[in-house]
Amino acid sequence: MNLVRLLPVGKVEPSLIEGLRAAIPQRFKVRCDILSVELEPGSFYHPERQQYHSSEILARMQAIARPQGCHLLGITGVDLYIPILKYIFGEAQVGGPCAIVSFHRLRQEFYGLDRDDKILSERLLKECIHELGHTLDLRHCRDYRCAMASAHAVEWIDLREIELCESCSARVQSRRPAGKLRAIYKGFIP
Ligand SMILES: [Zn+2]
Ligand SMILES: [Zn+2]
Repeated sequence: MNLVRLLPVGKVEPSLIEGLRAAIPQRFKVRCDILSVELEPGSFYHPERQQYHSSEILARMQAIARPQGCHLLGITGVDLYIPILKYIFGEAQVGGPCAIVSFHRLRQEFYGLDRDDKILSERLLKECIHELGHTLDLRHCRDYRCAMASAHAVEWIDLREIELCESCSARVQSRRPAGKLRAIYKGFIP
């Protein structure tokens, strides 16, 4: 992974995405920038669920990522789902170039609490590290403090550190230097 490009999917506050652009290179040795285009999520909306189908957005993102040869990380405020789950915080192509994270359920307001930008940006960064970890072939980690621990509720994200545990970190380090991004990845994971 050499370059991570952040793609706003729908309206995203510039300060939120700028915070990620600054923080992501500190966690992975990558360059990170923000695409000036925005992906309009309207066509991925499913009225019967009143949510947006995450895998469909990823498929669209793949078409953008491939010619650019970069990792593409979508950031969105819309509520994401995959058919087998009620909602997801994010989804990634395992060992592939694309991932997406939603901050819809990371906001304190969603739970009837007062807005807290610090909590929001911390949760969002943790989720971004998690999904990027999947694109680097990492699976879920049993250490609940590791950024790669699975989270089915926001409280679990709060328990995670921003960092990868030693063993996940070592796995990333031992990856062969990224040549061409794989065209075939190993499926999707939340
Ligand atoms: Zn771990
Ligand atoms: Zn995951």
